[in-house]
Amino acid sequence: MIVMKFGGTSVEDASAIRNLTEIVKKQVTRKPVIVVSACAGITNQLLQTATLASHGKKEEALNNVVAIESRHKKIVKDLVDGDTQKFLNRHFAQIAEELTALVNGVAVLGELTPRSLDTFAAYGELMSSFIIHHYLESQKIKSFWVDARSFMKTDEHFTKAAVQFDSTEQKLKEIVLPKVNNGYVVMTQGFIGSSSHGITTTIGRGGSDYSAAIIGALLDADDIQIWTDVDGILTSDPSVVKDAKKIKVMSFNEAAELAYFGARVLHPETILPAVRKNIPVHVLNSKNPTSTGTMIVAKPKIDKRCVVKSIAYKEGITLIGIVSTRMFLAHGFLENVFDVFHKYETVVHTVATSEVSVTVTVDNVKNLSNIVRELKHFSTVTVTDKKAIVCIVGDNLRNSPGLAVKMLSPITDVNINMISQGASEINFSFVIDEEHVDDVVMRLHKQLFANAGEFQEIFE
Ligand code: ASP
Ligand code: MG
Repeated sequence: MIVMKFGGTSVEDASAIRNLTEIVKKQVTRKPVIVVSACAGITNQLLQTATLASHGKKEEALNNVVAIESRHKKIVKDLVDGDTQKFLNRHFAQIAEELTALVNGVAVLGELTPRSLDTFAAYGELMSSFIIHHYLESQKIKSFWVDARSFMKTDEHFTKAAVQFDSTEQKLKEIVLPKVNNGYVVMTQGFIGSSSHGITTTIGRGGSDYSAAIIGALLDADDIQIWTDVDGILTSDPSVVKDAKKIKVMSFNEAAELAYFGARVLHPETILPAVRKNIPVHVLNSKNPTSTGTMIVAKPKIDKRCVVKSIAYKEGITLIGIVSTRMFLAHGFLENVFDVFHKYETVVHTVATSEVSVTVTVDNVKNLSNIVRELKHFSTVTVTDKKAIVCIVGDNLRNSPGLAVKMLSPITDVNINMISQGASEINFSFVIDEEHVDDVVMRLHKQLFANAGEFQEIFE
């Protein structure tokens, strides 16, 4: 079996749902379990409705409920007619009533708990999946709708509940697997679950990818497909590098490194359950379904000669140079430095260090003045802002002699403030002035991907 997850824009309206259906039809024989997000924008609208109600803005909240109801009824009208249309309209009228009751409740209490937020938010996925299920049936696809709260078991950390894998596995095998084996396409929701007391929970914003990975991992899927609205992961930011290529295959570690640099496609942590079980995860474009997408696997079997997979960057970086003032008592120096960052909850990206000095980069400067004040108790500190980190990622960087020369030869005229190759050895990054970042990324891409054409299984 396979898991096919469709994100918000892949289910946003009737035409998206028709698209989805065509995609599913082509793979029915692979026994898909389909996991969907709420229609694009609906989760935000539901949460906003709850917040409005708690602020006493009941009328605005109820307007939202009406808007949500009509958005879904519009999709229904565009997709199905006759009895199915009537049935679904009644269904959504009923949901609107439930939401109205919730709005009234929250408005009376004037208080909004995380638990209530989850109750509101869960409607998004329940609604989208219900329409799609009925549309699939109208298209003669044998579909079975399952409320994910029946199998996705979590703790009660509302709005960010932790999934309990053992009980979820057991429930999946009890509830979902038999349907799959009986030839049904199983239609369910991402993002939502329930506690052992049966109370509705959600697993964190954007959690549908994680739901899909968990279902795939626990049911030993052959393949997990994340259908979104981009062609996959690219060799660089296409707004900077016009001819950025699509990466066809990459390792989980590479994808994870890129994510820290804001590759927006998917959060690698969310697919960890799948990667741990060696299940490939495909990122695919529902608006361009014939594109091959990007496949992420634990250990891709690929050409060792292909060194660089992607060049990412992050602007808005501040560089902090810290030199110990206690020259000959340097032990404990690093500990003291990092204690300060820890105390002010500031993440350090890259670090370069000698015995008595350390340079770090941060992008969160909210507590910078406090950090600097405390560092000054035992060091001299220089702060330079408007920097950027450029990060070159590739599994084979690890085995690449002459690495720094190769990576930096296209930009020998650029002043580099700091260089770092992390412990994973698959990331080579350096810090430069922010104003040069576009130019540097373009030049690096041009040179480092000059031979990309030789690797047709990797780039497209
Ligand atoms: N609908 C949820 C959200 O918008 C979950 C998801 O789309 O992944 O956060
Ligand atoms: Mg989403």
